[in-house]
Amino acid sequence: MLPSDILCDFCERPWSDDLPMVEGHRGSCICGPCLSVAWSAVVDGGLDDAPPPAEDPDGPPSWTCVLCLESRRDPAFQSPIRPEALVCRRCIRLAGRALHDDPGVDWSKPSSGAVSDRARPEDGG
Ligand SMILES: [Zn+2]
Ligand SMILES: [Zn+2]
Repeated sequence: MLPSDILCDFCERPWSDDLPMVEGHRGSCICGPCLSVAWSAVVDGGLDDAPPPAEDPDGPPSWTCVLCLESRRDPAFQSPIRPEALVCRRCIRLAGRALHDDPGVDWSKPSSGAVSDRARPEDGG
């Protein structure tokens, strides 16, 4: 399988040398630029209090994260071109750390300086 056979689930661009990619389960991927957008929207963007797209507020979420394959109650980032592609906040954080810590990848969190890393308990299940 060639790297270019691997597409970002969120923008459908193929993996290349200048497009860093984080793999989830079953080959689902999110690329660096999409991760930046997702990070800004969900982690930094004040969407913490926005409900995930659940049909029934008391029922299970109606979506499944493409990276961890779990239905979570986290706020999610939805692909603008593929409505079925959603990634949960936990995966955005994990993927962001993975890219950030990769010495071969030039990716940094899109912090605009005003990031307040509030101490909050990890999201329990
Ligand atoms: Zn992408
Ligand atoms: Zn996830």
